[in-house]
Amino acid sequence: MTGTMNAILKTAPGPGNLAFSTRPIPQIGPQDILVRVKAAALCGTDLHIKHWNEWAALRMQPPVIIGHELAGEVVEIGSEVRHVNVGDRVSSESHIACNRCEICREGNRHVCPHTKAIGVHRDGCFAEYISIPEEIAFVYPNASLPWEQLALMEPFGVVVHGMLEYPLLARTVAIIGAGPLGTMGILIAKQAGASRIIVLEPNHLRAQEALALGADVVVDPSSEDPVAAVKKLTGGYGVHIAVDFSGSIPALSAAVNYVRPEGQLVCVALPSRPFTFDLAEFSYRGCVLKGIAGRRMYENWEQMRGLLAGGLDLSPVISHTLPLAEYETGMNLMEQGACLKCILIP
Ligand SMILES: [Zn+2]
Ligand SMILES: [Zn+2]
Repeated sequence: MTGTMNAILKTAPGPGNLAFSTRPIPQIGPQDILVRVKAAALCGTDLHIKHWNEWAALRMQPPVIIGHELAGEVVEIGSEVRHVNVGDRVSSESHIACNRCEICREGNRHVCPHTKAIGVHRDGCFAEYISIPEEIAFVYPNASLPWEQLALMEPFGVVVHGMLEYPLLARTVAIIGAGPLGTMGILIAKQAGASRIIVLEPNHLRAQEALALGADVVVDPSSEDPVAAVKKLTGGYGVHIAVDFSGSIPALSAAVNYVRPEGQLVCVALPSRPFTFDLAEFSYRGCVLKGIAGRRMYENWEQMRGLLAGGLDLSPVISHTLPLAEYETGMNLMEQGACLKCILIP
């Protein structure tokens, strides 16, 4: 396909330097597909790119079209594409692993050190069209799932990875932070049969929403000691599993103390700097600290399909839908913590 399209471009290194601009429609290689983007979601990573933090500066070489959470319709396929067809409804993994290194060959493509990410290393989805390798496309034939929800598969996948890494059935789970990812975590814990869902969240509106979606109790760590509160709710033992979606150092420092013996602390969000905790005490209780990166390719994608088929509804996670040109409005809402997921429609 030829012609031009609207896109949000990181035009140059440094803070800011984002522009709603016109770019050529991407050309596809033999193993690629061209997707007409129907919906895309804003993510914290896009803010890191806007502000040009160290993470972004190390990885990006602008000009690059940003955005990595998408849903769309396939409009063109390369000559060697075998499993995706024109007209398919797709979402996309954002990580392209090398498939050749030892880590990939050990079955751990989600942590391949040679990963290239869309919207970071190569052009992303805040555009009318995106070219992606067939390998990372996830075909979702069920037309009853709206484009806006299909655009959430990438972040939903990292939550599924974190939540289903250890069993939830009949176990007490703490979900730290009830933003968009924590909210997805509550929905998964509910569906996966957690015996009790304790949410830690200081924002009153988010706390109310968490209770409405299935949390059994919300602890406000700004008004009570979270360790004492969680222990009191669990007979003094602590939770079986805590999953952090906040990246907050005080929240993590508390969580290492309220995970029960032989329990697990799973970290989905990233703290912005190193911090210390008592590893000897943590270790003496037999606890596990597990980091979560990306989505297991493609086990987590199949688990997402299964959860959706089982009735999990992601609509409560979407708070705003905006035209692509109004991306700045969405970014401002995110910075104020005034939204859950913001969807952009190109
Ligand atoms: Zn993201
Ligand atoms: Zn690799």
